[in-house]
Amino acid sequence: MKTLIKLLIFFSLQSIEAKEIALTFDDSPRFAKGVLDGPTRAQNLISALKAANIEQVAFFTNSSFMDDEGTKRINSYIEAGHIIANHTHTHPDFNKTSLQNYIQDFDQAHDLLKNLPTFIKWFRFPYLREGNDLEKRDGMREHLKKNGYINAYITVDFSDWHLEHLYQKAHQDKKHIDLERLKKLYIDNALAAAEYYDEMAKKYLKRSPKHVMLLHETDLAAFFIQDMIEAFRKHGWTIISPQEAYTDDLLHFQFNDPLAYNPGRVSELAYQRGLPRQELWAPQTNTKEITKSFQEVITSP
Ligand SMILES: [Zn+2]
Repeated sequence: MKTLIKLLIFFSLQSIEAKEIALTFDDSPRFAKGVLDGPTRAQNLISALKAANIEQVAFFTNSSFMDDEGTKRINSYIEAGHIIANHTHTHPDFNKTSLQNYIQDFDQAHDLLKNLPTFIKWFRFPYLREGNDLEKRDGMREHLKKNGYINAYITVDFSDWHLEHLYQKAHQDKKHIDLERLKKLYIDNALAAAEYYDEMAKKYLKRSPKHVMLLHETDLAAFFIQDMIEAFRKHGWTIISPQEAYTDDLLHFQFNDPLAYNPGRVSELAYQRGLPRQELWAPQTNTKEITKSFQEVITSP
């Protein structure tokens, strides 16, 4: 009996301290006209993931970005064994798009992606905007269900797209960029955000779920992902596949009221259970703060 109790405590502690996270990249094949070109970014990203022993991540794809080069990029992700999923055709903002047009854009992407060998029926809402009124929100829920899709929610966000924007702008302006400092900022923000949402989960779900990190297919990801993964592991995190992440019970949670901007699945649940609105987003998603921190990455010539 004592052993059983000990085992039960062991397993429940394991779940509380699970710290598991999957990596997902949005907007793929994302525009690459800055520091790296598309093929170089893709190759760097693929080798970095391989070097870090990550077998599978997911690329949420906008099919209208698939010109000749973009298509090659997607194919290289497929060859490396990564998942391709639906992120709409043109990346529309659901807050500004009718349900009918949105569905059309979704269907167009589905038709263009459905025959790719590693395609899975997962949908990531662009900007995490899932419909700002009941008609749209329920209309898309219905459409996903009818087509056998899941809503590929996220739980961890650190506005990596904004850091990428600042980096590309600084590069364009011929500023001197301290890459080591930038790497530290990227990794510190990713880690702090993951810890923030995990603490929230432990408080409001009473457990550490299988997390899903929202990243974008960026040059910074290509440069830093291997070191970021190493830092996560050093801090007790395990990187899991997105397929494993979506076996979590979080998949079945549906928030009642339409949200103009979804803060992520853990935050939705915490919000429903009383977390104040201003705490739904990790401080690391605050673009003003990121811009401020980025100033220290720019060095004098
Ligand atoms: Zn997107």
